[in-house]
Amino acid sequence: TAKGAGRNALVEFEPALAARQAERLVLRHDLRQALAAQQMFVVYQPRVGSHSRQVASVEALLRWRHPDHGLVPPDTFIALAEESGFILELGLWVLRQALQQFALWRADPAVPVRHLSVNLSPVQLADPGFPAALHALVQEFGIRPGELELEVTEGALIQDVDAAVTRLAALRARGVAIALDDFGVGYSAMRYLNRLPFDTLKIDKSFVFAFGVERPALAIATAIVALAKALDKRVVAEGVETPEQADLLQGLGVNELQGYLYGKPQTPAELARSWAGSAPAALKP
Ligand code: C2E
Ligand code: MG
Ligand code: MG
Ligand code: MG
Repeated sequence: TAKGAGRNALVEFEPALAARQAERLVLRHDLRQALAAQQMFVVYQPRVGSHSRQVASVEALLRWRHPDHGLVPPDTFIALAEESGFILELGLWVLRQALQQFALWRADPAVPVRHLSVNLSPVQLADPGFPAALHALVQEFGIRPGELELEVTEGALIQDVDAAVTRLAALRARGVAIALDDFGVGYSAMRYLNRLPFDTLKIDKSFVFAFGVERPALAIATAIVALAKALDKRVVAEGVETPEQADLLQGLGVNELQGYLYGKPQTPAELARSWAGSAPAALKP
């Protein structure tokens, strides 16, 4: 019966849930010393121009190598850091690491990276001290207007649209571009989209994965690109794994492509190896 099935399901479910909660507790505790213990590092995933298919920019993505648990998924530990407020310190650390690395790349003509994207937690965006801290870092590393882009998820913005408009405008006034990350999933900011100050829409990878599998996916991606173009914004697609997906997205008018087809998130040393010997597009005949 349904009742019996429900009871069985519960019996199987409870220990798993308890174990997960216990693990979260351990991770939450360990997270506090992870930075000092040098368990955190930043990897960078290439983004290519949809026509040139050459690397134009990279997205910084945080990694935590736990001594017992190995690599902890960012979706797990970022949420924990947001709950405890530790994300403020962690987020600035990522930004500093990434800007420092970007300044090195920019000074090297053999490296094609000309733009940098860094994810911004809604907790950071809501921090009154963030714009000044960002400004100090931008000055320290001599970052020019348009070189740095911060990625925020739309869901974080529609809870208080007026506040989001003010905060995003303050960042853009400092020459920092804004991307709406994971666009099209979870919430719909359609109603507020014309009010939000931003530069780029990032089509969520779930739509790209569903091309050729679920009929509406391509239609939704088409609509997102049309919407972005009507608002005069750039469009980036994430989760590009096949040449077919890349060609479809290019055909739709997507500006940049990001995905395993062009590279997984990698350490600077790994990227340097892949770039060695291949001159940037601008230097090729
Ligand atoms: P995101 O910002 O949407 O980043 C894109 C995610 O998609 C990354 O997962 C990336 O590795 C993955 N991805 C990119 N291309 C492909 C592909 O072709 N196939 C597949 N299967 N996956 C692909 P990752 O690195 O696990 O990060 C997950 C999320 O964690 C990020 O999603 C972002 O929301 C958050 N995150 C990561 N680093 C930071 C950070 O420094 N600060 C904040 N606030 N959040 C971060
Ligand atoms: Mg992102
Ligand atoms: Mg994303
Ligand atoms: Mg995501």
